[in-house]
Amino acid sequence: MELITILNRCHRFRGFVYQHAHFSTDKKSIEVAVRSRKGSAAVCSRCHLPAPGYDQLAERRFEFIPLWGFLVFLLYTMRRVNCRRCGIVTVEEVPWGDGKRTLTKAYMLFLARWARRLSWKEMAEAFRTSWDKVFDAVEYVVTFGLEHRVLGQIDAIGVDEIQYAKGHKYLTLVYQIDLDVTRLLWVGRERTIESFRGFFAIIGDELASKIVFVCSDMWQPYLKVIREKCSEALHILDRFHIVAKMNKALDEIRAGESRRIASEGGVPVLKKSRWLLLKREENLKTEQRFRLRDLLRYNLKTVRAYLLKEAFQQLWDYNSPAWAGKFLDDWCRQVMRSRIEPMKNIVRSLRQHRELILNYFRAQKLLSSGVVEGLNNKAKVTMRKSYGFRTFRCLELALYHSLGKLPEPESTHEFF
Ligand SMILES: [Zn+2]
Repeated sequence: MELITILNRCHRFRGFVYQHAHFSTDKKSIEVAVRSRKGSAAVCSRCHLPAPGYDQLAERRFEFIPLWGFLVFLLYTMRRVNCRRCGIVTVEEVPWGDGKRTLTKAYMLFLARWARRLSWKEMAEAFRTSWDKVFDAVEYVVTFGLEHRVLGQIDAIGVDEIQYAKGHKYLTLVYQIDLDVTRLLWVGRERTIESFRGFFAIIGDELASKIVFVCSDMWQPYLKVIREKCSEALHILDRFHIVAKMNKALDEIRAGESRRIASEGGVPVLKKSRWLLLKREENLKTEQRFRLRDLLRYNLKTVRAYLLKEAFQQLWDYNSPAWAGKFLDDWCRQVMRSRIEPMKNIVRSLRQHRELILNYFRAQKLLSSGVVEGLNNKAKVTMRKSYGFRTFRCLELALYHSLGKLPEPESTHEFF
């Protein structure tokens, strides 16, 4: 069986024929010559319709899926068309390629699928290609997906901020968190009013007005945009974000107190206690649980803050907004007497957003809680996998690619 036979079986296009396959001079790659079928017109790359030929350009190489340790290239001499509809002379469009990209669509789809499982660096090594080509492949697939996705009705969204580089570099992520569909809808640069408004510009007022639930954290710009664009929706402060904020305060208290003890030459009881205090007790190993019990015997600010944080968790067990509200108010009063400033700051913002927190209980039966947290974790893993270049574009692509549930370009064959 010849290579041409296989290609005709899995990667055949009307109007083009595979001529012959041969090794390159260094024997490291296979080159397959492609030509247009006699009498078939070239297609204008602007209007995607057949147009009269004009002239020919130099031969181009399109990288195909490697075979048995050999790189494979399709060699084709591009034609130019004189398109009367567009009124220009332009290069033809070929069905296996995408504009100026040097990889065939089939190879890009192949790489992009693997890029959901491996880091881009591992990809480049495993397939003897470059990081840039993996980037190209993902960009092609994501661009296609965003152009072809159907937004449909959106019942619930969650907005989340995520830090991607040192020096307060944040992204704004908007997820759809309907009971039956959870996916990333949008990635925005920064976490400003303008960036979040960008999301609403994409979906339009019509869809925005039908959103029933919005989950967010206490970040002011988000709160403002939600009031402005989803005034009818029930706005919920997300449990995950409140807990995260409290953990941050606790961490700050611990670090400060630990430094103070060290400077006074005291026993460093808080050393290596960070995760003991931040993890939920049920998630600790037995040995860690003993160390935590030990630590809790000390009369430290950190310990008092930890106990307040743990007591707060009970809030989420309530079903009725009224009882949850009563618990919240009691807890806040208790903290205000504690003389622990970072915790008191939290109380101030909880009090300010009391109604939005209680909305969590009003919506409890209708939203799967924890979904934003799950998506946030996946986003963090994705960001780690695409490392190499922490540019906005690169992260944006990687995030859409793994969390966007985007439709994929059609393929002539399942290349696995
Ligand atoms: Zn045209």
